[in-house]
Amino acid sequence: MTDTTDYRDAYPPSPQFAAEANADASIYDRAAADREGFWAEQAGRLHWHEPWTRTLDWSNAPVAEWFVDGKLNVAYNCVDRHVLDGHGDQVAIHWEGEPGDSRALTYSDLLAEVSRAANYFTELGLRAGDRVAIYMPMVPEAIIAMLACARLGLTHSLVFAGFSPTALRQRIDDAEARLVITTDGQWRRGAPAPLKTAVDEALGTGSHTVEHVLVVRRTGIDTPWTEGRDLWWDETVERSAPEHEAQPFDSEHPLFILYTSGTTGKPKGILHTSGGYLTQAAYTHHTVFDHRPGRDVYWCTADIGWVTGHSYIVYGPLANRATQIVYEGTPNFPDQHRHFQIIEKYGVTIYYTAPTLIRTFMKWGREIPDAHDLTSLRVLGSVGEPINPEAWRWYREVIGAGSTPIVDTWWQTETGAIMISPLPGVTAAKPGAAMTPLPGISAAVVDEEGKPVRLGETEANGYLVLDQPWPSMARGIWGDMDRFRTTYWERYAAQGWYFAGDGAKLDADGDLWVLGRVDDVMNVSGHRISTAEVESALVGHAGVAEAAVVGAGDATTGQGIVAFVILTAEAAARSGAALVAELKAEVSREISPIAKPREIHIVPELPKTRSGKIMRRLLRDVAEGRELGDTSTLVDPDVFEAIRASRA
Ligand code: ATP
Ligand code: MG
Repeated sequence: MTDTTDYRDAYPPSPQFAAEANADASIYDRAAADREGFWAEQAGRLHWHEPWTRTLDWSNAPVAEWFVDGKLNVAYNCVDRHVLDGHGDQVAIHWEGEPGDSRALTYSDLLAEVSRAANYFTELGLRAGDRVAIYMPMVPEAIIAMLACARLGLTHSLVFAGFSPTALRQRIDDAEARLVITTDGQWRRGAPAPLKTAVDEALGTGSHTVEHVLVVRRTGIDTPWTEGRDLWWDETVERSAPEHEAQPFDSEHPLFILYTSGTTGKPKGILHTSGGYLTQAAYTHHTVFDHRPGRDVYWCTADIGWVTGHSYIVYGPLANRATQIVYEGTPNFPDQHRHFQIIEKYGVTIYYTAPTLIRTFMKWGREIPDAHDLTSLRVLGSVGEPINPEAWRWYREVIGAGSTPIVDTWWQTETGAIMISPLPGVTAAKPGAAMTPLPGISAAVVDEEGKPVRLGETEANGYLVLDQPWPSMARGIWGDMDRFRTTYWERYAAQGWYFAGDGAKLDADGDLWVLGRVDDVMNVSGHRISTAEVESALVGHAGVAEAAVVGAGDATTGQGIVAFVILTAEAAARSGAALVAELKAEVSREISPIAKPREIHIVPELPKTRSGKIMRRLLRDVAEGRELGDTSTLVDPDVFEAIRASRA
């Protein structure tokens, strides 16, 4: 089977779904007629201690101010008000530990825990504006810690618990964190692995800003201790008072710093603030996932160390009074049924994951999901990279019983929340297309000069820009406003547009397809070919489970296409040479002979960030025989040994 981009291949919502959905088509017109008025209306989803006087101040562009003079408390919005509204007994978090333990936290429980942490952080002398680094696996205390920071106006910086001590130290230093919160260890495929020791190592040499390390006991393993600096969570936070009154902060008060995943270079410390961010996180979670509080069981499988975890595990869902699943472990522990068991156990209705996991499920085979009752699911989401049409169809057919809407959500750490996505119940979605900017969002696909590309012209692939400010936009790169301006705002400075760094095209219907990063567009004999297109053609072959493509310097063609592929179990038994020839022919046929890969390497794994993105810049380093660039955000640095071996 191969992927074909047939624009008529669209999946309209069922009439029943459309009749009950949170959004209907009129929302687009309403937002277009009065964009600021529309956002002001969305801000009404939140509780404001003091109302704003102006919706938007863009006079200091590219740093926006939204809901000027408004005052709110982000944690109050995510927790307290639901309890005050009589929903204290509703489960906020169904937590599943990797070893099989579980915990349910109601909104009342969450309020008590967040209050305890806020009281103790105050006792430690932390004050609004101070930074706190959170280096934790997926345990409830990580979310409690984030909310306690938000409650006190402390700025949190999450560092994914798989990152090295060096990566942690860079982020601690960059943000000048006063407190680090961690766990003694984390569960990894049935065994506890130390984590707090990585903090010790990070802080081992040279002077730093950290005064205390607060440690949650998760695994009970032996933990080295620095008296005076280190503190156990259960001996401190858990003994603090469970009542705390939330103070309001300015709408533009810094909420968090989060470092991008580093697929295109050194990670950038993206800064987000409070009122606009929470407004858009709540609005998009409500509208894009069609979320209904008290009825849905929502599950976003991201790690909280990624922006998706911030906006769609913590802030959006909790602001909307969701009941959600938080799972600590990997999808294949103790076996490949884990996610489907969890969906079945809790009756999950909304499931939001990444294409890389969907392709992994495809590789494992449909008999695994087929062994479970997944009929509770009613909305499926995808995020992180373009989803190839074949994976999209499989997701809908096998996980979604051939009927659930799929929302392919395009956004970035910098945008803070979803920007381009179909709306379930409204959009007739096309497999692989992000479709339409959300109501309230304005985007364009333009050429080098900023002229709009023409609809449907396949040669007219262009650059994705955001030509109007939006509430959850980044307010800067921490400590480096110059880099903020040059990275995102210089390219289209004349027009004042945000340059997303992604390529896109508009089809003949005007629907938007994200083609991947501009850095990942190859130039072969003067033809611009996107890595995503070639990868999609390769994955369209039944023998290929995953593919990554890069352009490597080539004396004759400028760049030559080098592909790295993971085979399916059946194909792995076949002769490599015959398969490689077949794959080359397939790409030629699907795209054009110019797109035929110069080399195809069969590899056991691909280098990925924790958010599931393929690190093409590192594969480019391999393809061109260079030293590897910054690998600090890679999940598994060992993959390169196997990849290098495949080329030998
Ligand atoms: P860095 O900026 O450091 O290279 P990063 O861009 O990988 O890191 P994120 O902010 O997590 O870090 O990723 C945003 C990018 O992910 C987008 O710019 C886009 O390339 C890709 N992306 C996310 N969702 C989608 C989607 N639905 N379709 C296509 N691409 C997507
Ligand atoms: Mg990026």
